Amino acid sequence: MNNTSESNPIRNFINGEWCSAENCQFVPLFNPSTGEVIGSVPMSTPAISNQAVKAAAEAYPEWCATPLPKRMDYIFKIVTAMQENLEQLAYSVALDQGKHISEARGEVSRVIEIVQMTCSVPALLQGETIQGIANNINGRVIKAPLGVFCGVAPFNFPALVFGWFIPVAIATGNTFVYKPSSESPLFMQHMMQLLVDMGLPKGVVNIVHGDRSVVEAWYDNDDVAGVCLVGSTPTAKAIAQGCGRTGKKTMLLGGAKNFLIAMEDAPMDLLIENIVMSGYGAAGQRCLAVSNIAVVPEIYDEFVERLLEASQKITLGDAMDADIFMGPVISSSAKERILNYIDIGQEQGATLALDGRNPILSKDNQGGYFIGPTVFTDVTPDMRIAKEEIFGPVLSILKIGCIDSALQMIRDHDMGNGACIFTQNSYYTEKFINDADVGMIGVNVGICAPHPYLPFGGVKGSLVGNNKVQGKDAVDFFTQNKTATVRVVNPKGNDATSAKPVDTSVRSCVAD
Ligand code: NAD
Repeated sequence: MNNTSESNPIRNFINGEWCSAENCQFVPLFNPSTGEVIGSVPMSTPAISNQAVKAAAEAYPEWCATPLPKRMDYIFKIVTAMQENLEQLAYSVALDQGKHISEARGEVSRVIEIVQMTCSVPALLQGETIQGIANNINGRVIKAPLGVFCGVAPFNFPALVFGWFIPVAIATGNTFVYKPSSESPLFMQHMMQLLVDMGLPKGVVNIVHGDRSVVEAWYDNDDVAGVCLVGSTPTAKAIAQGCGRTGKKTMLLGGAKNFLIAMEDAPMDLLIENIVMSGYGAAGQRCLAVSNIAVVPEIYDEFVERLLEASQKITLGDAMDADIFMGPVISSSAKERILNYIDIGQEQGATLALDGRNPILSKDNQGGYFIGPTVFTDVTPDMRIAKEEIFGPVLSILKIGCIDSALQMIRDHDMGNGACIFTQNSYYTEKFINDADVGMIGVNVGICAPHPYLPFGGVKGSLVGNNKVQGKDAVDFFTQNKTATVRVVNPKGNDATSAKPVDTSVRSCVAD
């Protein structure tokens, strides 16, 4: 894989074949570090999208009948293949997403952990049984696959979202159609070839590139059992509406705006270190990036001074340059949007304490989409920079009187993905865990991603519906519970209960 458009052909993968996208428009794929075109991405038609669903539907009967240990063999092989190809997979993430190469390696490594956790699917698939609910009648619940699932990825985590959806969906017996983001399709091209090389049967995983019309084709397709998305809240709501109309299952992770609360006893070194990683990692383009920092008056001045000092040390440049800290944002339009938010912050009266609009780069990457660390102070909760998702390396600092006002700010916010508190006080800690109205809570850790075995997802606008990724929650999403009531009849007809007189005074729906 290198930096020319000819060497990065982006193709659909349907029914075991790499396909040329006939009759499709193409959009250019950019390297955000340089602004160069490195490929072109087909905008597949609804007909192609449905063709992929057909392939997945045809593969389903055989795949769901494949014994579980044999399906799990592929999951073990995914772990090995990813470990052996970690460097190339990370390179593909850094090239089109612009994530710094060390963070790209971190993303792929986290996916390996998620797939390792998927190896516990057989334990999580175990249903429940209850013997003797009536004479000779037993009850049990089995977890069955549903058919074809479709998944939609955002630009910012091309590897992670593959790891959240596909291994668990196929381990539980479903087949899959996946639409990567057209801004970061390279990881999935590479990953799909690894799935092919390990002999995954045709039609079990299919890829269709394109825009929303690929997704919209699924709503009226009777072969689609469910759709999952990681993306912005408006997209999550649009898919909820489309799937709600035709009664499909959904798992929809939306946007975010995460608060960090610094109390008077916050360990200052740890606090600054975590904000730098969480706020500027991936150039602020994470659903778990810290964005609003609420600080009590006792430490406010020292905190601002220390944060500005640390922020000024951040180095910027090409995502492949191992010596720098932060790469570019995804596109020129994303850069425009973030710059616009910096203007809005100033217009609404916040103080621009650190201006990242004209950053110094490690090398002359003038064509890249760079914005340096930006810090606003004197921010109030009603300002747009505190309310809306900026999705860039822009931090807003708010002054709070006490923990209650911080909790109120979090409650009043439309989003509720993650939040964290820095304190050594157990009262603050427990109160925060109980009362913070978010899905993922951190204590003395930056806005942190839960371990792959635990559920990942927010509340309010950050999660449309109630289904989360990872662990048992993901297994529940990709399966349906079926309850069976079984009367055991002796074929010789001479068991003791068949001779027992029946009490007809109470008519039960389960006869005894
Ligand atoms: P996006 O919503 O613009 O696009 C996500 C995907 O949905 C893309 O593949 C896109 O082609 C498709 N899409 C866009 N509009 C659609 C529509 N109307 N109908 C159907 N599909 C549509 O998001 P993005 O800019 O690619 O990614 C950034 C967003 O994702 C941010 O809001 C971020 O917070 C969120 N995100 C959330 C999490 C989480 O865990 N909650 C994780 C990563 C990213």
